[in-house]
Amino acid sequence: MAKFDDNPAKIAALRTRLLEWYRCYRRDLPWRRSTDPYAIWVSEIMLQQTRVAVVVDRYQKFMERFPTLISLALADEQEVLARWSGLGYYRRARMLHKAAQFVAANLGGNLPVSADELRLLPGVGAYTAAAVASIAHGERVAVVDGNVERVLCRLAGWEAGSRKGGGSALRRKIEDLAGRLLDSSWPGDFNQAMMELGATLCAPRNPQCLVCPLAEECETRGEHKTPRRAPMMSRVVAYALSVRQGKRRGPGWREVLLEQRRAHQTVMPGLWELPALVQAEVPEDEVRMTLRHAIMQVNYYVRIRTVFEDDIEEMTVTGGERRWVPLREAAGMALTGLARKVLARAHLLPEPPLDTIAPGRLA
Ligand code: SF4
Repeated sequence: MAKFDDNPAKIAALRTRLLEWYRCYRRDLPWRRSTDPYAIWVSEIMLQQTRVAVVVDRYQKFMERFPTLISLALADEQEVLARWSGLGYYRRARMLHKAAQFVAANLGGNLPVSADELRLLPGVGAYTAAAVASIAHGERVAVVDGNVERVLCRLAGWEAGSRKGGGSALRRKIEDLAGRLLDSSWPGDFNQAMMELGATLCAPRNPQCLVCPLAEECETRGEHKTPRRAPMMSRVVAYALSVRQGKRRGPGWREVLLEQRRAHQTVMPGLWELPALVQAEVPEDEVRMTLRHAIMQVNYYVRIRTVFEDDIEEMTVTGGERRWVPLREAAGMALTGLARKVLARAHLLPEPPLDTIAPGRLA
């Protein structure tokens, strides 16, 4: 039992201090300036597996292009994926788009209000439903994301459970505690305050306990015991970079060869990438560029080789549909993060401002 568990006065004091801290120190983030459920929903989907710093810029551009749910519902999926570029985990963009189309076609364009109804939409899980319902509509439902889970474990003095064993029992205890601590007068602010605390002061490493508003009640006041993370796997892959002068528009109009990933592929279906080389081992003097690209638990060590038009068939693996794409058009396409990174480093596209995507909702 946590220090404050049987003491309503202590719980009330904890809520007050947390809310005061949040109202003084919260970060000024673009989605916090809106009470539009659609805007909050978009931000919560983006924040699920991407760092706040990465989301800020992408969110603003996405909302400029799709300011309403209807504008998103009417858009072509390829454009939605292109506007998602840099955020990774493209399945979220597809689900968001599908959900917007469902709401436009069946609910008159109005997002459901309650968390239970929101959960019926594609791509909306317990966390997103609770966040949107509490922030946009003041529903008394607690949000538990990775940051909140860490804060509550430390607060109550619990070790984090492994995903394999004991995790679900701990998860139930955390959800129960989150529900009991929730401030029923300010559920949206309280949920955001818990997430903000986890993202800023109560970070995974070096928590700032000396300035934490919950330090008095906290059992841990420091890092808690967590299971060891699974080691990253490594893979070596190689891609062809083929660029030619465009035939129709004269000198200076260059085109790059891109290939669309097939619709049935489990990872990034429908996105455009560079053609894969038959030989992953590229002779040192033929390597145009090397880079590391992390996707979930895999580190890809990538080699890029220049391939001339006449050699493409022989040197590359035949995959999905291929197109020679003018560079100015490629910038607006739904490219994989790796393809965008390679083209930027080759000075063929503007440098992507944001390329670090990490699993889990992060600070
Ligand atoms: S006192 Fe430290 S460990 Fe406890 S909640 Fe605050 S920042 Fe986290």
